Amino acid sequence: MTMTETMAPYAKPLPAPDRNTAPFWEACKEHELRAQRCSACGRYRWPPQGACPACYSWGGEWVKLPETGKVASFVVVHYVSLPVFAEDVPYTVAQITIDGTDEHVMLTSNVIDIPWEEVKVGMAVRLVWDDVTPEVTLPKFRPV
Ligand SMILES: [Zn+2]
Repeated sequence: MTMTETMAPYAKPLPAPDRNTAPFWEACKEHELRAQRCSACGRYRWPPQGACPACYSWGGEWVKLPETGKVASFVVVHYVSLPVFAEDVPYTVAQITIDGTDEHVMLTSNVIDIPWEEVKVGMAVRLVWDDVTPEVTLPKFRPV
């Protein structure tokens, strides 16, 4: 692209970070997958939230996670709910359990670079960063 060309604005819905999820999205922008871990019991806390769902402690830290996981569940989207997704259907929306988190960190994302017919529950996947705007990076996954 030359300097005189302009990119169309990104039209798909973007994350709306809040007090709990902003650190996750900031880490994604730096191409780091992070989740909260309870300071009291060590359990990973997902989705991000104030208190630990296991021991109800408030303390926690944001720790870097492995970039590998497994497909826990998925659906294949064929219906165009928003016109901006018309060129994408059919596409896969999956729940990905991140390795090393005792399956407590489960991201909702896309499995890409594979025909939807070949996606399987239990499939090993690796994270791929998708810089959709200068401010927003989405974690997506492809088969290992
Ligand atoms: Zn805890």
